[in-house]
Amino acid sequence: MTDEKPDVLVVGSGIAGCAAALGAAREGADVLVATKATKPEDATSDWAQGGIAVTRDDPASFAADIRAASDGEADPESVDTLVANAREAVDDVLLDTLGVEFDGDGDGYDFGREAAHSARRILHVDASTGRHVLRPFLAHLQAHDRVTVLEDTAALDLITHEGRVHGAYLDRGDGIDGEAAVESVFAGATVLATGGIGACYGRSTNPEGATGDGVAMAALAGAETADMQYVQFHPTAYVGSDGESDEPFLVSEAVRGEGGVLVNADGERFMPGVHPDAELAPRDVVARAVARERERTGEVRLDVSKLDFAAEFPDLAALCADRGVDPAEGIPVAPSEHFLCGGVAVDGRGRTSLDRLFAAGECARTGVHGANRLASTSLLEGLVWGLRAGEAATGHEVERVEAPLPRDSDPALPPSFAETKFRRLQTLMDEYVGLERDSADLQRATAALMRLKGEVDAYTRTRTSRGLYELRNACVTALLVARAASESPSAGCHRLVDGEGDTQEEPRARP
Ligand SMILES: Cc1cc2nc3c(=O)[nH]c(=O)nc-3n(C[C@H](O)[C@H](O)[C@H](O)COP(=O)(O)OP(=O)(O)OC[C@H]3O[C@@H](n4cnc5c(N)ncnc54)[C@H](O)[C@@H]3O)c2cc1C
Repeated sequence: MTDEKPDVLVVGSGIAGCAAALGAAREGADVLVATKATKPEDATSDWAQGGIAVTRDDPASFAADIRAASDGEADPESVDTLVANAREAVDDVLLDTLGVEFDGDGDGYDFGREAAHSARRILHVDASTGRHVLRPFLAHLQAHDRVTVLEDTAALDLITHEGRVHGAYLDRGDGIDGEAAVESVFAGATVLATGGIGACYGRSTNPEGATGDGVAMAALAGAETADMQYVQFHPTAYVGSDGESDEPFLVSEAVRGEGGVLVNADGERFMPGVHPDAELAPRDVVARAVARERERTGEVRLDVSKLDFAAEFPDLAALCADRGVDPAEGIPVAPSEHFLCGGVAVDGRGRTSLDRLFAAGECARTGVHGANRLASTSLLEGLVWGLRAGEAATGHEVERVEAPLPRDSDPALPPSFAETKFRRLQTLMDEYVGLERDSADLQRATAALMRLKGEVDAYTRTRTSRGLYELRNACVTALLVARAASESPSAGCHRLVDGEGDTQEEPRARP
């Protein structure tokens, strides 16, 4: 195959990008995967811990759990699509094609349980499921004769003509002195699978390349986005005993699923007073409660004394040991940006509002998560929608259109520019567009982000460095979040407080 004019261009190599590539290749398409990753850990998929939820003999209750966690905002049709296709996708791709060996006892799988799930239905490998899924997936694609994977290759912008997407401008990363080496790559269809937006916040569980590229590129090309206000904060990220670890890590919800409880600085358990499901309440509820208790008493710890922590979660025990944390004393935790429930609006086949542009995974808004994502449904969504988007993206001719390369004529970009502006962006998002939001703050944030984007745009008119485009993408994404938040009422992980936080959370009815 030629890698210059693929039938399908997939941007990103997490689970959604891999699934899209596989789905398209199985239809006979020549696929080019362009990924800015240089190693598996650059994709969030590699970091996934708790596992992948699957439908057992309980499709109705699985669907009800997803909708309840979503604060009633999930699209029932999308939820049904996920639940109906879960088992087949997992059996076909993860078990039969990739041979992933999920934990089991010989008689069957050791299905885990996590918060807001009414049953045990989560396949996992220890608490490091992501890497046991993604690495064989990448190896499978690298050996596939219809798939070419280009690492260290960032899509900077989409090539569009009269409402149709014809491929993308790719920075191959092999320019001189970090300068971009940009080329136009035309494709029959393009699938965005660029993951999350963690870099928009100062504290996130995501890898640092999660700069919202797919959402921003799609929005700039005119595609619709939806539910951007729903940014999920995970309640239990390790933060260091002073609350400021340089190397935070996620403590999987599976730990609470197996009996871990949250205690404040006075050693008191507080979740039973907040929600009837206590530590197993939906994520957004637990995250807000943890933030409040940290503010009120100074600290929250995850007490794992009822568990055989080292035996049940050896990977997490190793991370604790690495940071000098003794789990017997409780693990200091705080909420941290974790997942974007919204994104580029897509239908059940991953089609966006632009012709020949598809999206899957965390950058896409399928409607499955509504206002709050249920644990361990993201890998599944990436797998199911990735396959469907990849299949649907085939069958289009590659058309060459006029595609002027981005200009690169201004040598006067200060090297620290992107870094300084990124810090400004993160401070704005942390302060004004975080776990709880105030309408006046949101307006302040929007105005400041507009100014920041204006400054960045002045440079992208004449410069094409990858870092600058990532900064532009983060600005566009942050603006979409702030604007959607100021235009939407509270639901799930978008909580408007306008000065008055509430402490009692309503339990969510299972529809
Ligand atoms: C610590 C942690 C634990 C988690 N645990 C779980 C779990 O147990 N179960 C679960 O279901 N979910 C979990 N999640 C969420 C889940 O891992 C992610 O939502 C999911 O993996 C996203 O997959 P993706 O393919 O959409 O994106 P990613 O896996 O992030 O992949 C995005 C890819 O796009 C590339 N990319 C980005 N921009 C560009 C660009 N401009 N050009 C080219 N390439 C680009 C990146 O390099 C990367 O390869 C967890 C998340 C975190 C952070």
